[in-house]
Amino acid sequence: MDFSRQLIEWYMVNKRTLPWRDTDNPYFIWLSEVILQQTRVKQGLPYYQSFVKTFPTVQKLAAASQDSVLKLWQGLGYYSRARNLQAAAKQIVDDGLKFPDNYKDLLTLKGVGDYTAAAIASFAFKEAVPVVDGNVYRVLSRIYGIATPINVPAGVKEFKVLATKLLNNKDPATHNQAIMEFGALQCTPKNPDCCTCPFQMDCVAFQEERIPQLPVKIKKTKVKSLFHHYLVIQTPSGRTILNQRDTSSIWAGLFEFPYIESNGALLSNEVTEHEVFKEVTSGSRFRESGYNQQPIIHKLSHRKIHAYFWIVKVEEELIDAILVDDAFKKPVHVLMDRFMKEFWHRN
Ligand code: SF4
Repeated sequence: MDFSRQLIEWYMVNKRTLPWRDTDNPYFIWLSEVILQQTRVKQGLPYYQSFVKTFPTVQKLAAASQDSVLKLWQGLGYYSRARNLQAAAKQIVDDGLKFPDNYKDLLTLKGVGDYTAAAIASFAFKEAVPVVDGNVYRVLSRIYGIATPINVPAGVKEFKVLATKLLNNKDPATHNQAIMEFGALQCTPKNPDCCTCPFQMDCVAFQEERIPQLPVKIKKTKVKSLFHHYLVIQTPSGRTILNQRDTSSIWAGLFEFPYIESNGALLSNEVTEHEVFKEVTSGSRFRESGYNQQPIIHKLSHRKIHAYFWIVKVEEELIDAILVDDAFKKPVHVLMDRFMKEFWHRN
């Protein structure tokens, strides 16, 4: 089988028109690759367009405030991607605006791993390095019938060796785009379109009816439940309080209501007697006017967050309180975004 030729022939007929495919600007390619990690093209496209418009150059991204970068990222999740993007932009500016132009140097940028470095190096600089993302694992494991788990070092190595062997060294950019597009459109996780697939005759998974079993991934994350009791402070003038997360958490740099962490649901008096509550209300008289009995559940890869929102009306102004309009300008995580829009009736 001439894998690369068949793949590229398929790509030329089936590829989607996407803005980052019409450029060899490494900065735009990098932006698109970071945005599209863990994100579908349809969801990522408007974010890509906003980033290119707001930060058209690496310098602009490096010079922006972290809040403005996170605000633009809001809703995409995995916020470390946005923080790393900006940290790497600063690295490039500090290095005399020299954008790394090869796989090895690209790996020195913050947040740039094997996949992203290979994508930028091959798409922008035509370097012959294979990309291996979720799509590539799926396509190769099925066509070649490989059952080695994709998330253990031996599997990572085996697939990388195979991808390198199959790569079209004369046109690595098109080959890499093609294999990812093939995984996204034809050899999809569920219901792959095997009937019209050019690899059907050679595909081991198809021939041996093993498609649902491939690729193999070992489950190793144990999900932990967290209980957050958010204090939705309302002062007489309608202000509220938001705190910024510190740098050690997954939501670092994002804003949220002050909260109490517990091992489960709490009674009203357990909240109002908690030291976080006392500190936030600064001894002001308050009226706790109910809360959402049903927590909002938010699932992350390792965590399941049960978020309760307590409405606390204080009778005095608080020094750290801000206008609700200003709260809406802050970058917030998805749980906060959902609650704030519903509670204050904003879109
Ligand atoms: S035959 Fe089906 S499973 Fe095999 S590569 Fe084609 S689409 Fe994927």
